[in-house]
Amino acid sequence: MSRALVLVDIQNDFCEGGSMGVDGGAEVARRAAELVQGDAAGERRYAAVVATADWHIDPGSHWAAPSDEPDFATSWPVHCKVGTLGSDFHGNLSPAMPLIDAIFRKGEYEAAYSGFEGRTEDGEGLATWLRAKGVDSLDVCGIATDYCVRATVLDGVREGFAVTVLDELVAGVAPGSTETAWAEMAEAGAQRA
Ligand SMILES: [Zn+2]
Repeated sequence: MSRALVLVDIQNDFCEGGSMGVDGGAEVARRAAELVQGDAAGERRYAAVVATADWHIDPGSHWAAPSDEPDFATSWPVHCKVGTLGSDFHGNLSPAMPLIDAIFRKGEYEAAYSGFEGRTEDGEGLATWLRAKGVDSLDVCGIATDYCVRATVLDGVREGFAVTVLDELVAGVAPGSTETAWAEMAEAGAQRA
């Protein structure tokens, strides 16, 4: 087994103080950084560490129009706008940044919940990149459990990876949708650890 760690959307706008901050986001960032640093310093669990980022220029109705209230299910406050502080990775993740092997950005002109929709600057997709490294299993953590983590996990399983969700290193938008997401991820065959 060759395992990679996938850090999903650990960005300022998804953490406390961000435009759609999720409770526990900053703590997820801190713990994720510890995990990456510990792995690099110790007995390596991960063949690769990658990060995904929500990365919007004009994502259409994914951002609620100024005259509308976001419904927090399919329309959201303006977030992760390219060039703003909100789109940056959270500061708690900074110690881990030099150890991240590749970043996959998604959603320039559309909603893109799954990290598998992301691309490197060279245009390479996540599944292709992971396979090229010989990776067959994934640990997934990040924000938010009920949206981008969920979508990334379900796509990871569909792409044929053995996926484990790290439940101490995720944070959800709302309890109901988070519970539903856990059930869907388990049903799809993802492990929870
Ligand atoms: Zn978005």
